[in-house]
Amino acid sequence: MACSASLRRTRFAPSPTGWLHLGHAYAALVAAGRADPGQFLLRIEDIDRARCRTDYEQAIFDDLEWLGLKWPRPVLRQSNRMDSYETALNQLISLGLCYPCCCTRGDIRAALSAPQEGAPMIGPDGPVYPGTCRARPMAAAGSGDVIRLNMARALDHLGDLPDFTETGPTHAGHHRLHPDWLRRQAGDVVLARRGFGTSYHLAVVVDDAAQGITDVTRGEDLFEATFVHVLLQAALELPTPSYHHHSLIRDSEGKRLAKRDDARALRSLRAQGATPADIRRLIGL
Ligand code: GLU
Repeated sequence: MACSASLRRTRFAPSPTGWLHLGHAYAALVAAGRADPGQFLLRIEDIDRARCRTDYEQAIFDDLEWLGLKWPRPVLRQSNRMDSYETALNQLISLGLCYPCCCTRGDIRAALSAPQEGAPMIGPDGPVYPGTCRARPMAAAGSGDVIRLNMARALDHLGDLPDFTETGPTHAGHHRLHPDWLRRQAGDVVLARRGFGTSYHLAVVVDDAAQGITDVTRGEDLFEATFVHVLLQAALELPTPSYHHHSLIRDSEGKRLAKRDDARALRSLRAQGATPADIRRLIGL
């Protein structure tokens, strides 16, 4: 019997905030293909309750089944995992790596436009936070605050920085985390959003470990976020999977597809009579 511990496990982790389009079909099929003969999991990333809808979630199941994909049930839903995210957040807090931040987007914009700041650095989460609240203790946290990672402290805490393996077409190789890049380009990322109890970065790291994901397969727009994820894995003493960031499917003008682009939604193509084989052809698989 094959040893299941050595089998690959990948996942497709959509957020039910719109209809799946050709780009999602590509991501799901590439992930499932890379899992073979291991296991392909579906995870519903529904922490943003205001934007997630049950009809979008049902459409994810319908579209992926129609494409011929199979995955174990029940699927992991992030909205059911808040206790696990809180435990991880508390672990980082108890290491002294977090602080509460009460800055609004407007405050951050104003701080970044101050003449002495120069051009703001743009990282995986947009403009890098200027650190206004960095000296606030966790004891001062108010219910409307977000919780940020103190990147400089996290780097000091870890000392030797980990590396990860990437097998995707654009960035294949071994990547070591660089303190300068993390400080300047990622900065004090948000770990818990106002009202969410978690952020994308924290939830994805906790869930990939909980699900025993060995190969994270996802779009190359998330490549830079991987440096933050690998740092969080090290701080939380979680294993680092290997990564495969695939190219993005673009429209005829070279723009990446968006969920609001209904014309390329799988359900619209299906309603017009497309078959799963047509979809594979359209995305070059
Ligand atoms: N939920 C994310 C998205 O829909 C994907 C996250 C990931 O694969 O790490 O873009």
